[in-house]
This record gives sequence, structure tokens and C-alpha cells, in this order.
Amino acid sequence: MSLRKRAGFTTAATGLTVLLLTSTASAAPGPGSPGVGDPYYPLDGNGGYDVSHYDVRVSYQPESDRLSGTTTILAKATQDLTTFNLDFLLNVDSVRVNNRPAKFSTDGGELTVDPAQDLHKGSRMLVVVKYSDTPNKYELYGYNAWKQTATGALAVDQPHMAPWWFPSNNHPTDKATYDISVAAPEGLEVISNGTLVGTSQQIDGMVRWHWRSKQPQATYLAFMAVEDYDVSEELAPNGLYYLNAYAKDLQNPDAARASVDRTPEVTEFLETKFGKYPFEALGGVVTTGLGFALETQTRPVYDDGFFARGANTYVVAHEQAHQWYGDSVSLGSWDEIWLNEGFAAYAEWLWSEEQGEGTAAEIAQFYYDSYAADDPFWDVLPGDPGAENQFHDAVYDRGAMTVHALRTAMGDKAFFKLLKQWPKKKRNDVGTTPELIKLAEKLSGKQLDEVFQTWLYTAGKPATSPNGDAAVRAAKAEAPKSVAKIDRTHKLLHQRELAHK
Ligand SMILES: [Zn+2]
Repeated sequence: MSLRKRAGFTTAATGLTVLLLTSTASAAPGPGSPGVGDPYYPLDGNGGYDVSHYDVRVSYQPESDRLSGTTTILAKATQDLTTFNLDFLLNVDSVRVNNRPAKFSTDGGELTVDPAQDLHKGSRMLVVVKYSDTPNKYELYGYNAWKQTATGALAVDQPHMAPWWFPSNNHPTDKATYDISVAAPEGLEVISNGTLVGTSQQIDGMVRWHWRSKQPQATYLAFMAVEDYDVSEELAPNGLYYLNAYAKDLQNPDAARASVDRTPEVTEFLETKFGKYPFEALGGVVTTGLGFALETQTRPVYDDGFFARGANTYVVAHEQAHQWYGDSVSLGSWDEIWLNEGFAAYAEWLWSEEQGEGTAAEIAQFYYDSYAADDPFWDVLPGDPGAENQFHDAVYDRGAMTVHALRTAMGDKAFFKLLKQWPKKKRNDVGTTPELIKLAEKLSGKQLDEVFQTWLYTAGKPATSPNGDAAVRAAKAEAPKSVAKIDRTHKLLHQRELAHK
């Protein structure tokens, strides 16, 4: 379900602009554009249509890394189309559009489809793509996101993952529901998003696992994990479908369980800050060989390394926070990644406060003080870090400091209203920084441009700490009290130096 960024939001007020938009939209039939114009990844996503559902039905053979099957896409044309693109790397056997064979060609991650009949704006599109290939041989933007493990494979990565396993409109602005069905050799488990609908034995000896996601989901948040897992499936105390999976070759299985098995408790805490959990299922997957954790929708995937020093519920708080900030509310473009990471990192600070291991104010002060003014850390702008720095520490730490500076400027009452209202207002939708600023200003009655300008878009260490100047801090008596405690929290938080996502 796509939402066009910026263009329509501010201009719909005048009749003249509406007219202009209308006349642009009724242009002669033409090809859909190969990208949605993302500033970091211009070929991500495609113009001319809006996907509502993906049915991904594949088989995977770990020994040969062979992935084959069919993806069926339900979409709607948003313009008259002669051709349209999907984002996909694998070898395609056939494409059908509205039950007729279509011509197609592939080049550098773009699958261009030429349907037998032109598509009219507003018409339904039923696109069936059959394919078979070995995903591990492909790169996009200079990297290979597909990961083979000791027994299986992981389709888990950010910002790009879908092109290695299903054709899609690969940008977070076009969200859709999913049925994901993967057959794998008997003895392995296949874990994905949402609810496990069931498993079935196939005549070829494979077992098919069928998963369903009922809420719209961005393409990079769809995942499949094929391995030998210990799986537990139950209802969480709040009644949600709850499934965890732990790979059998973990180095830290007990510490992993002492962390990820607390997902319902962490989620309950986050509900007190962010409002009702936005999805129908929850859980987690712990594996080896991933090197990071990712907020795959309803069921984050964690590298076992996060638990090397014992239980680590901070990474769980981080990934669960993304279910609101990043998953239910998606980015409009990848340069605004701070909207995901700043708030998820701030959730770790709130969880720390809940655990009695340092308050959010103390941790904000600690980070502000621990980066010297000449540290290159301050050169990366969280509000536009560049594609190469999309997951730089500054996006997380300075992003969370931005959130705390916003809290100081708004006051607690308005700030905690914002934390709940933003995900409620933008649920299953896309949210941008200008829209967040607008809501924060409305709730606080204050002009907040300067806070965001200083913290998100200006290089160099801000002159005042996220807690405000010394006089403000003295009045609030929020100076750090327990350095030992904060230092410990800091180390725990930095277990995500594994290249946390
Ligand atoms: Zn994150």
C-alpha cells in the first residue's frame, strides 16, 4: 500500500495544485519508472503500481542453494502502463499478467515486464512470476544479502533483501500483506513473519511451511530462515500468537533464551510508552552467522553473539521498539533512517530506566559527554547520514540524543503523548521527519525547528546537552548520579556493535 512522499501532502490545499497534479497523472500510457526516486537507492521500488498482497511459494534445497517457485502479486495500476518493473535478481522462467503470458527482460536487479495488453490506471494487476536459481551468486549495490548457514539459509537483511528471493516493488513506501510458503528438506524448520498457518508433507520428501502476515509489511521486513531450530509455539499472556525459534548450534543458548523468551514482558513495557502493540503475532529467532539483529516484522532475528556476555534484553527492547517505529510506521525514504534507529535506541534507554540501570536522562548525558567535540562521530548527520553511513553509531546514539533533546524541549507530558500518537496516527503507513516535527509542535505548542536543525542536520557537537543547559539540568536535578551503573549500561547497549540494525 503505497503513499507518495511529500508531493501530495503540502500541496493539496489549493485547487490550482490539485488541477496540476490531476493533469500530470492523466499522461499518455508509458512505461512505469524503474525506481521511486529514493535519494540513496534510486532504482529501489518502481513507479506505476501499488501492491496489496504477495503470495511467495518457493522450495529451497540448502545443499545446492537452489531456490525455485512462484510469486503471485496482487496490485493496482496507478497510471496507464505499457510496461512496468519489478525488483528481482534471480533467473525468471515465465511471467503472466492478468492470466496472459507476458514478455520480460532482466538487467541488474530490474525485471521489466511487457504485458500482452496495456494496463489502465486503476485496473487490477495479477502478476505471476516463476523462477529458479541459486541466490548466493548475486550482488546488488556491491553486496550479497543472501546468507547460507551450516544447515540452511537466511533471507534477513536491510535495506535490501527481497530481490534475492521474491520479485517485488522493493521500497518501504509500498507495503502489502503476505503469504509466505517455503518447502525445505525434512528435519529443517522454516521460520517467517506472522502466524504459522500449518505445515504439509510433500510427495518429494520436502516439508512445506506456510506463514501469513495480516498487517501490511515492507519488503525488507519479510524474511525466511531455514535451519535446524528448536521451536516453541504458544499464546502470549496478552493472547497474541507467540513463536520463538533457536538454532540448535548456538554458542549461548541459555543466555539467548533468558533474553528473547522475555519478549512478551518487554513488549508489555513498550506498550506503556508507545501504545498498543501493532501486530497479531510476536516472537524471535536466534541464529549464528548473521552478525546483526533485524526487526523483521512480528519476529526479529538475532545473532547469537548478542548473548555472548549473558542475557541482553536491550537488544530485544530495541528490535521490539521497531515494531512500532520502523515496521508499523515505515520510512518514506532511506535518508530518514534516524526515525527508525533514534527511537529504537531511545527505547533501550527507557528500558534501562525501567530496569534501574540508569535513566534515559543519565544515559543521554553520558553519551553527550563521552564523545569529545573533535570526535568524527559528530560529523555524521543522523538526519541525512549518506548511504555509506546509514547504520553508523551516530544514527543510533545521536539519533537517540535527538529524541531526548526533543523531550527536553517539549516537556515530558507532551513528549510521551507524541510517543503514543505518532505510531497511532501513522499505523500501517509511512511517516516523514517533517510530519513528526509538525505533530511534536502541535502537541507541545512550541516551535521546534531549531532542535531538529541542531541535532539532525548540523555537523559538530551541539553546544548544549540533550538535557538542556546546566541551569535547566540543575533545576531538574538530573545530573548523573551513578557513573558505575551508567558505564555498565553503556557496555550492554554497545553489544550491538556487532553491526546492529
Ligand atoms: Zn535498529
